[in-house]
Amino acid sequence: MMRLPGFQYRAPRNIEEAAALLAEDPGNAMLLAGGTDLLPNMKRRQQTPATLIGLRGVRELSEISNGDGLTIGAGVTLSRLTGDPRIQQAYRGLWQAAAQVATPHLRNMGTIGGNLCLDTRCTYYDQTHEWRKSIGFCMKKDGQTCWVATSSPKCLAVSSTDTAPILQALGASVTLVSSRGSRVVALADLYANDGMHYLTRQPDEILSSIAVPALDGWRSAYWKLRRRGSFDFPVAAAAVALQLDGSRVVDARIVLGAVASRPVGAERAEALLRGQDLTDDLIAAAASAASEVAKPMDNTDFELVWRKKMVRSLVTDALREVRGDDVRARRRQIARLEWLSPQP
Ligand SMILES: Cc1cc2nc3c(=O)[nH]c(=O)nc-3n(C[C@H](O)[C@H](O)[C@H](O)COP(=O)(O)OP(=O)(O)OC[C@H]3O[C@@H](n4cnc5c(N)ncnc54)[C@H](O)[C@@H]3O)c2cc1C
Ligand code: SF4
Repeated sequence: MMRLPGFQYRAPRNIEEAAALLAEDPGNAMLLAGGTDLLPNMKRRQQTPATLIGLRGVRELSEISNGDGLTIGAGVTLSRLTGDPRIQQAYRGLWQAAAQVATPHLRNMGTIGGNLCLDTRCTYYDQTHEWRKSIGFCMKKDGQTCWVATSSPKCLAVSSTDTAPILQALGASVTLVSSRGSRVVALADLYANDGMHYLTRQPDEILSSIAVPALDGWRSAYWKLRRRGSFDFPVAAAAVALQLDGSRVVDARIVLGAVASRPVGAERAEALLRGQDLTDDLIAAAASAASEVAKPMDNTDFELVWRKKMVRSLVTDALREVRGDDVRARRRQIARLEWLSPQP
């Protein structure tokens, strides 16, 4: 059985207190939300903070409020998010992404803030301490070399959060609070393409809330590739948000997940869509353009060339779903037919 290392636990009651505690020693303290990622990581000694600052008692982090769009507290659990009718109706892609994170039990504990700040993943890193020790560790923790690309000056671990790509596509921004004050940044600017330093958040900052603008006339969808259909981290994903006027695309955002150390925008594909009728040919062209920016590395589940190919398929399905096609029913039907007539 893997045991947690020793740590000091602090339980602030409000955000100011939490920020003050974090400011005491930001380099050696970490924030604990649901703990569904951080605690297993600590058991594997991937992260070994001297102090954990628990956010469970900070009430203001657990609110969802209406304004010009929605403001979601970082401490809102994924179960609560998926049960909220406003998310189900107006932000369908976000609902789909949150509903596909982990398992029901983990979604009951896991928060949206923890999901956005989720550690990057890699075959050489998400292992026990003994396993990592046997290969001399790696650059991300305790070692010098990146085993994925030995000449790489930086870690290439994969951004594996399901909600970040779709929230980026929805134009979300986040508020970061510290004892020095607060600032609002576009979600896209929260991430850096570096597996070790994947957040631009400062060590003394707390992600307090996520603002999603009102998106009248927009539709969104999220498709992910994972090993186990019941639950698993994404190894490629497509988040699509389109503003439609009938069948004409007024505006488009496509963001890919799990193909780099951060969510990746597919700007050329977006430009192809704007002002055009969303035909099958246009969807094929946009999906092809989107797959060009996907540069997965060989450090997660499935073969990397196939993962890159699957990006085209995920973007196609997401665009078709946003158009109104019943893609999920078609996929289920194909799966049933394959089951009934197995290939030799
Ligand atoms: C078996 C299993 C399967 C999983 N599958 C998926 C999956 O399919 N998709 C997916 O996206 N995730 C998956 N996860 C990871 C995890 O469950 C979710 O990402 C969850 O949303 C993390 O939220 P949390 O509140 O538990 O975060 P925690 O574990 O508490 O924290 C995660 C990180 O975020 C930081 N953090 C937390 N809150 C804040 C804040 N307010 N401000 C700044 N930093 C903060 C923590 O310090 C830590 O670094 C899986 C986990 C397990 C164990
Ligand atoms: S990408 Fe390289 S440095 Fe990063 S976790 Fe994997 S092996 Fe380690």
